Formats: sequence, structure tokens, C-alpha cells
Amino acid sequence: MECNKNRNLKRCNCTFSCDKKGLCCECVEYHRRKGQLPACYFPADIERTGDRSVEAYLNCRS
Ligand code: SF4
Repeated sequence: MECNKNRNLKRCNCTFSCDKKGLCCECVEYHRRKGQLPACYFPADIERTGDRSVEAYLNCRS
């Protein structure tokens, strides 16, 4: 399967400099291993804080 990195980068809302940017499979695996969610689950104001916790996600969705 072809990697869609360039297409993914156009939709990525992550504001952090990171080598996994656009590589969604690696991004999800990285944050999942840490018990977190990737940037695309968060609205811009929360994403900017860098808090990728499930708790932050639930707080911003409640
Ligand atoms: S969400 Fe995390 S792993 Fe994904 S690009 Fe941003 S900093 Fe990197």
C-alpha cells in the first residue's frame, strides 16, 4: 500500500515539529503506547497545549 504522507500532511493539525507528522500509523502507535490520542482528536486551543491525554480529550468533549 502506498503511503499517503503528503495528503495526510495537508489535513494534519499538529503544531509540533515531529518526525511522525503525516505518518498517521506511526503517530497513532506512538500516542497509543503512551495512553494518549493524536493531535487530530483535539480542537486547536487544546492541541497547542501538547496535552494528548485521554483526560484532556474527555474534558474538551464534555
Ligand atoms: S500528534 Fe504527536 S506523534 Fe503525531 S505528529 Fe503531532 S507530536 Fe508527532
